[in-house]
Formats: sequence, C-alpha cells, structure tokens
Amino acid sequence: MQKLKVLKTPKEWAKLRLEILSGGQSIGFVPTMGALHVGHLELVKASLDQCDFTIVSIFINPTQFNNPKDFETYPKTLEKDLALLDENGVHAAFVPNTETMYPTSTEMTLSFGKLEKVLEGKQRPGHFSGVGLVVSKLFNIIKPQVAFFGQKDLQQIAVIKRLVADLSFQVDISVVPTKREADGLACSSRNVRLSPSERKIALVLFKSLSKAKSELLAGENWFAVRQAVESDFQNILSTELEYFELVHPESFALYSSFDPNQKSSLCVAANVGDVRLIDNLPVID
Ligand code: AMP
Repeated sequence: MQKLKVLKTPKEWAKLRLEILSGGQSIGFVPTMGALHVGHLELVKASLDQCDFTIVSIFINPTQFNNPKDFETYPKTLEKDLALLDENGVHAAFVPNTETMYPTSTEMTLSFGKLEKVLEGKQRPGHFSGVGLVVSKLFNIIKPQVAFFGQKDLQQIAVIKRLVADLSFQVDISVVPTKREADGLACSSRNVRLSPSERKIALVLFKSLSKAKSELLAGENWFAVRQAVESDFQNILSTELEYFELVHPESFALYSSFDPNQKSSLCVAANVGDVRLIDNLPVID
C-alpha cells in the first residue's frame, strides 16, 4: 500500500504542513527534476536521517533550460519515481505542473554576479537565473527547515547559498557527496540517454578528474595537467570538452596555478554524443 502522499498544489501542501508542524516535526526538502536514480536517493537518505518528515519535489523547470532540445529530451519517469520514493520511506512528493509553478509568464530574472561569468554560468546563459527562480518558489511554497542538494552540481550549491543569504530564506542548506556508479561515473538523470558505447566513453570525465588530481598533488604544473586532459579528450571520438578548470569551490574564482594551502576543486563539462555531462572532484577540501 502506498504511504507516500502526492501533492499537486501549494494549497494541498500548506494544509499538510500545518499538521506536521503542530506535531512538532521538522521538514526536510529534496528538490529534483525526476528521473530519479541512486544519487537522488542519497539526498533522500540524508533528509530521512536528519529530519522527521521528508518531502521531495519533482518538477522539470523550463526556465533553467537554455537549450530547448535538452528540455524536450529530459527523461520523464513520474510513475516509477513515485514508486521509488514510496519504497524508500519518503513521506510526500510535490509534483506541480508548469501552470501551477508559473501561473503567469515570468519577467523576473536573477543574477549571481561572478558566478554567472564562469563554467556553468558562462556556458548556460540564464540557467542559474532559472534555478534561482524555481528554488525561491519552492522554498516559499514548501518552507522546509533543511533543504538537501548534491555536490555533483557544485556551482549550483554556491548559487543556492548566495540566494539563501541574499534573500534571507530561513532554511539550512545541507550538501550531500556525489554518488557514483561502480566504475566512477557520476550518477545523473542524463546517463540513461547514453548508448552502451557512449556510457563507456563517458567515464573519461571521472578518469580525467582523478588523473589531474593525483598529478596536481604530485606537484605537476596545472597548465600542463590541463593540456594533457584536453588532448585526451581530442583523441576520443564522440566527446567534446567544454571546460576543465581548477576553482575555489565556493567563490568559483579560477586558479591559474595549484596551491596545496588553498581549497580547490576540479570541474569538468563535456558532451558525449549529444548528452551534456558535468562532474567535479575536490582536490583540497
Ligand atoms: P536534478 O534532478 O538533476 O535537478 O538533481 C536534483 C538534486 O540531486 C540536485 O541537488 C543534484 O545535485 C542532486 N544529484 C544529482 N545527481 C547526484 C549524484 N550523483 N550524487 C549526489 N547528488 C546528486
């Protein structure tokens, strides 16, 4: 028997939320775009551990897609997702439609300053504005005590933290480490779009991050390390490297050299066939 409560409107949730709060329970929130995988379930587990009541949203947010084809082809598996949430002990799912989330066409945009100028911000103009908008809407609707985000989208975490600080959202942000497949490929909803041969090729993202990390820690020069990664990608058919950068994991300032005394993360984005994948690895935490 399904115990998961499926809510489609903010009103339905508002009613249930009052009941939860009157029982003195804390609310943990996991925002997703569905096509759920074990990576999402790590966020669910963290919420179930830390909070009394866990609500997961599933909404493919049109305003964060700068590429219409990416939006159209984004995998949609709602029934399966709801069954998975139920099996994993989630208490509620919020599954609004686009009219509910965007009753009128939106004029508002958000800008995240320097974060817009590098990596995902630079490659996907308007993406973080869309993320900021939908996460603001969801925070205002769900009003959780804690919200859970994956380290897999490292720059998104910096954006969300900025949003919470600048707009004074009363929510704690909890960051969950990246869940990987057995061979190291970061779990992603987009992985299902890879053909079997592309799935093998996609491992180049994690391999190049790991190789670059050990080379940097062994004292090799950052530009030489990056050049080697660029030529690795050039030698593999069906891949196109968008960026491979060493950054400060919170400010996203780009480093031009490696300093073992400064926090740093390696970030990569690449197309494998026509599937765009991103990944990152901390070098110095
Ligand atoms: P998405 O449905 O892709 O928007 O992702 C929803 C949340 O799940 C985001 O906070 C992601 O960072 C997180 N997430 C996606 N993939 C992973 C993963 N492999 N490990 C941990 N968290 C993830």
